[in-house]
Amino acid sequence: MQVFVQIGKDNSFMNILNIYEEAGICREVFEYCTSVEEKLKERFDEIDKTAEYNQLKVIHAMQKNKVSDVHFASTSGYGYNDIGRDTLEKVYADVFHTESAIVRPQIVCGTHALALALSANLRPGDELISISGKPYDTLEEVIGIRPSRGSLKEYGITYKQVELLQDGSFDKEGIKNAISDNTKMMAIQRSKGYLTRKTLSVNEIGDIIKFVKSINSNIIIMVDNCYGEFVEIIEPSDFGADMTVGSLIKNPGGGLAPIGGYIAGTKECIENVSYRLTAPGLGQEVGASLGVIQSFFQGFFMAPTVTAGALKGAIFAANIYEKLGYKVVPDGKEPRYDIIQAIEFGTPEGLIEFCKGIQAAAPVDSYVTPEPWDMPGYDAKVIMAAGAFVQGSSIELSADGPLKPPYSAYFQGGLTWNHAKYGIMMSLQKLVNAGIVKL
Ligand SMILES: *Cc1c(COP(=O)(O)O)cnc(C)c1O
Repeated sequence: MQVFVQIGKDNSFMNILNIYEEAGICREVFEYCTSVEEKLKERFDEIDKTAEYNQLKVIHAMQKNKVSDVHFASTSGYGYNDIGRDTLEKVYADVFHTESAIVRPQIVCGTHALALALSANLRPGDELISISGKPYDTLEEVIGIRPSRGSLKEYGITYKQVELLQDGSFDKEGIKNAISDNTKMMAIQRSKGYLTRKTLSVNEIGDIIKFVKSINSNIIIMVDNCYGEFVEIIEPSDFGADMTVGSLIKNPGGGLAPIGGYIAGTKECIENVSYRLTAPGLGQEVGASLGVIQSFFQGFFMAPTVTAGALKGAIFAANIYEKLGYKVVPDGKEPRYDIIQAIEFGTPEGLIEFCKGIQAAAPVDSYVTPEPWDMPGYDAKVIMAAGAFVQGSSIELSADGPLKPPYSAYFQGGLTWNHAKYGIMMSLQKLVNAGIVKL
């Protein structure tokens, strides 16, 4: 067990256990977690390679577009001639290998970005088909699956859904049969979100895009890319997705963007989005960046490393809790296509103690104790742990779960691997302290 770490040529040693003990972690938890970490070296090396590749991809796009400090200036009012905003959008387009992109603080969250992509490119009478089964909860109201004011349904846009097959793959036959003369767009959600299905790999998504386009090349493919950016070295846009959509308080904001969303895609689709975001006739030419543009650039620059840290945290957690006998999804060994980790605790106490640990390890609000509460739209109490610099940011270390069987904690983020690691160690510490886990 490596408790002492040599930090200088002069044989000075740092007692790493000491600082963990000061931070509330006991020797048993430290040793247990360290032994798990030591077995993950190869896996972590692969993640670092992916981050290295993606880092160069981002830097290269910034160099190609001659990013300069003049681009970081704040603009106000209409935001005409905001060269920072325009350059950032070119950088995104280059990283996603698309003709165009729109990246704005006026896009308030991921749901808004997705709603924009849909409503801007669908017209009355058009049909939308989700081919990865039920979409993310908040999209149910956007589409009108649950009756909602202002939904696509109110505008005469119809909706169908093709479920994924039992093994989590696309139902090609079902998709083919679902296509009608009115089918204008298909939506694919890369991440499982808070469902129990598996997350789709970019290759699987690429394969189905090819299949759909071979049937009708005019069908617009939109991919909900939330939590997926930079997990692989390829993105859905590399395989012909017409729109790739996500939130800047997840992976691509790198923890620095205080708000925002992006859509990268074809010139045609992004132009439509711009007229919907602002107004017909105005489009992409307006929209002041209000002083957040540097954080968008810098966050995008950080995003490959930040995503790698979050990914290591998810794998670390999976291996720790799997070894203790809990069901973890994904499991400790399988490949990853997003940064979300689910752990089934089986009891409310387990879930609550886990969340308390995540909270206690946070840089912000560590002294707060999370409590289960009734949340609108949920049929059970929900517990949430987040001590984030940006409200609701889920690229920062966070966890939540509904207080109902199987008492699963959904866990994601961590701006640095070291913080993610500490958060998971603290979660285990809480479970040990409560007598739920014995090491
Ligand atoms: C987070 C998320 C969204 C919605 O993003 P918000 O920023 O919470 O509105 C949509 N789809 C998936 C898969 C997500 O993970």
